[in-house]
Amino acid sequence: MEELKSFVQPKKRYSLEDSYHKACQDKDFSNYVKTLPISEEMLIKYTSSLEECVNMRKICRNCPGIKECPHSVKGYVLTPEKDNKRVIFSYVACSKKREILYKDNITYFEVSKDIKEANIKDIYKDDKARLPIIKYISEFIKSYGKDKQLQGLYLTGSFGSGKTYLISALLNEMAKRGVKSVIVYYPDFLRELKSSFGEDFDEKYNQAKKSPILFIDDIGAESCSSWNRDEILGSILQYRMEEHLTTFFTSNLSLKELEKHLSITSSGEEKVKARRIIERIKQLTTEMELVSKNRRD
Ligand code: ADP
Ligand code: MG
Repeated sequence: MEELKSFVQPKKRYSLEDSYHKACQDKDFSNYVKTLPISEEMLIKYTSSLEECVNMRKICRNCPGIKECPHSVKGYVLTPEKDNKRVIFSYVACSKKREILYKDNITYFEVSKDIKEANIKDIYKDDKARLPIIKYISEFIKSYGKDKQLQGLYLTGSFGSGKTYLISALLNEMAKRGVKSVIVYYPDFLRELKSSFGEDFDEKYNQAKKSPILFIDDIGAESCSSWNRDEILGSILQYRMEEHLTTFFTSNLSLKELEKHLSITSSGEEKVKARRIIERIKQLTTEMELVSKNRRD
């Protein structure tokens, strides 16, 4: 009996290590395990699951697109994660699947394709004027998970300087992290709201008003009326202020110029109403300016 024990135990340990080192002869396997924040001692216990992870990733290299994904759960790959003294394996969305999933977290009204695809990794960093905004963006990403009541930006500045791109890239990133946003191109959003009276007006209006993050793009480019100023914009902003919901704006107008734009006529009453909107925007945001070269051509 004693003899048998001393024979069985060393053989078992030897075979686990052996199969791990054998698997490491495969370049893909050894490169993959090097990227994991898990000690070799622990990895040795999970060789066959790790081999499955590597095999799935080899297949992913020739990805035929999500619809044709050859894996049993389309768009998901087996992934190891350290959990105390164990390694657990679960199916995690691949990069293609994540691209699709994030789009469920963001609603765009009348927004161009390049804005939908805006990515913080692609933000030009060649221009010093952008640095304070880039810094704001990275702070926002770090802090929003802990504090949902962060102030947004009122980003003003020259035409084509990248205002819309920068805020959209931030919200696309937040969507990838599971945070829901609505982006509206303001002049067209108003037109759409007007034409949806009696149909899905309430749904569209409430979606923007109540979104955890709302981005009103190009405010000041609309033709102002007392209806859109007081009934639409005024009510949306009032609600968002009371609920402490993060709101962003971009505009070619400074807040001072926007106040003038919203006054429509110079009658005293209109001025007070315009002032009220500006006060709400100031409560919701910090004003920043981006003057840079026109990137539209
Ligand atoms: P603005 O809103 O200030 O008028 P946009 O954000 O629409 O300007 O930018 C103009 C063009 O330049 C867009 O086509 C956009 O895709 C591109 N662009 C602007 N900023 C960047 C950036 N930081 N990185 C990549 N592309 C950008
Ligand atoms: Mg813009």
